[in-house]
Amino acid sequence: MSTWVIIAAAGRGARSGFSDNKVFADIGGMPVIAKTMLAFEDHTAIDGIAVTYAQGEDERIRAIAEKYNIRKLLHLVKGGNTRQESVHNALKALPGDCSVVLIHDGARPFVKGSVISECIAVAMSKGACIAATPVKDTIKETDGGVIVSTPDRNRLFAAQTPQAFIRELITEAYAKASACGISATDDASLAEHFGHKVYIVESGDENLKLTTPSDFERAQTGYVYRVGQGYDAHRLVEGRELWLAGVKIEYEKGLLGHSDADCALHALCDALLGACALGDIGGLFPDNDPKYKDISSLILLERTVEVIRESGFEPVNADVTIIAQRPKLMPYRQEMRKKIAETMGVDVSCISVKATTTEKMGFEGEGLGISSHAVACVLSKR
Ligand code: MG
Repeated sequence: MSTWVIIAAAGRGARSGFSDNKVFADIGGMPVIAKTMLAFEDHTAIDGIAVTYAQGEDERIRAIAEKYNIRKLLHLVKGGNTRQESVHNALKALPGDCSVVLIHDGARPFVKGSVISECIAVAMSKGACIAATPVKDTIKETDGGVIVSTPDRNRLFAAQTPQAFIRELITEAYAKASACGISATDDASLAEHFGHKVYIVESGDENLKLTTPSDFERAQTGYVYRVGQGYDAHRLVEGRELWLAGVKIEYEKGLLGHSDADCALHALCDALLGACALGDIGGLFPDNDPKYKDISSLILLERTVEVIRESGFEPVNADVTIIAQRPKLMPYRQEMRKKIAETMGVDVSCISVKATTTEKMGFEGEGLGISSHAVACVLSKR
């Protein structure tokens, strides 16, 4: 038994004002359709994703799925002339063991995992349900511009997606509707038409469908900032070069370590990974792996930034403090900031490097080693 989602992405989205299909529009550095697919990719109860596409857009969707690591079973189904026809095609393409199907708008990328879970649970127990939100405005029914009735607002909900069904129930409704020439603007209407009870799963306003240019403007604000911190220390020894924050420092000793032992960049990598809850530098670059022997830590930083970007995060800024009694680091600060900014792909104004002594206290003060603290901020795109 498997649970599938059909993502309707074959519409042209004429109201968005874009010349292109709005599911390819960018929200915070990612196409809308990528974010929508990821909501279901990340949900453990979903086994497969079917996406309906408009003529000529299948390769674009496949490339996006690859880029954003969609690993679940993926069916691309050619859309029809209407949403209903497109969804009907997708229903026919579902595998035999599919028992529950969710139907979701491609341009509704902010659906929460908890709403998906509840829709699946209600569909399994009751047969049919939809995500919906109570209406806030009083709704007027009109005829020729004149109000004919004011329905009781407490009974009104705005229909959203996912709309979730026992597979046979909705495939039968679609087949009958197609045979009788019945059309509807959502899937629940067809189930209702054939006498099925459809239940409401309350979801919030944030599960909005991106339709008009102002929806897209609202969507750009739907991202969160996250912070992480890192710390590292290495021992000062003779016979090693001293590298700090990606810059070679003139000094009679250097830091001991498997890589170039640049503790400032190691703390920074850990801060970035920490902000994204992606583990630490030791996990990413094991210090017993010969390929990292004496490697420049700028390469480790570059790879760290790639890893966080692949996971949907964008570095924003970082603040690094180096703790050393000697040598004086002030003259190197600008070069350090520049190196880090270039490697992270951010403006130099977003990178701070500070240095302090400990007034001869502790291992840094006694000149036994150098340590670093770092804090980094990232923008989460998911
Ligand atoms: Mg280290």
